[in-house]
Amino acid sequence: MRKKIAAANWKMNLTIQEGEQLINEIMNKQYSMQDHHKVLLAVPFPYLSAFKSKIALNNKMNIAAQNLSDKEVGAFTGEVSAKMLKSIEVDHVLIGHSERREYYGDTNEVVKQKINLAIANKIMPVFCCGESLEVREASNQNEYVIDQLLNGIFHLEEEDFKKIIIAYEPIWAIGTGKTAGKEQAQEMHAAIRASIATRYGAEIADQTSILYGGSVKADNAQDLFSAPDVDGGLVGGASLKSEEFAAIINALP
Ligand code: PEP
Repeated sequence: MRKKIAAANWKMNLTIQEGEQLINEIMNKQYSMQDHHKVLLAVPFPYLSAFKSKIALNNKMNIAAQNLSDKEVGAFTGEVSAKMLKSIEVDHVLIGHSERREYYGDTNEVVKQKINLAIANKIMPVFCCGESLEVREASNQNEYVIDQLLNGIFHLEEEDFKKIIIAYEPIWAIGTGKTAGKEQAQEMHAAIRASIATRYGAEIADQTSILYGGSVKADNAQDLFSAPDVDGGLVGGASLKSEEFAAIINALP
């Protein structure tokens, strides 16, 4: 059975003290977690090590980075490499988030380099894709997202592709309070899975976790996650409130 995942993306929010309090609250809630469930907490770089040891006893929760450099090593001031992340035992990383693509020049080519470096360093990427409102209004969303897959991850060999988690995040739904309806999400997730099946075969497609992101909250998570091809969520705003995020974890099917 493929993994069902609740992933928190804190973005550039919370001091370390506020983050610590949030993690304590999250860890102290009751969960009905099963073997196929997984939780990721994508926290700011400076907190990775401290929070990694904090949640060490909870084998279902994992710390993730929100980004990594597209360069391997060297004179790139301010950058954080895949090797550095691995050296502090970070095993997951978000790559290609729309905010990186939009504000920091993460083109498909840059995203592809980041994916390659994550895989080479045995860090599992959460590959983010999704269309803008303009693309959706022109009904080009499927072509657009499939193109992101083709240019970002479909170059990988089969064994490496198996390490990828995909997050479909329509940009018009991120932080806006607008959510893709369950049918809209299912339609895109099914299209993504079909394109994986064409490239890598049905078995690998069936094993790939495809998360939905875009204003997931406690009160819509269960409905969204009940779509057959939606394998959990990548959650921004609602992951900053322990009650909300715990309810989203408990909504994993
Ligand atoms: C995100 O940034 O990945 C996200 C989905 O944000 P939000 O849940 O706030 O829409």
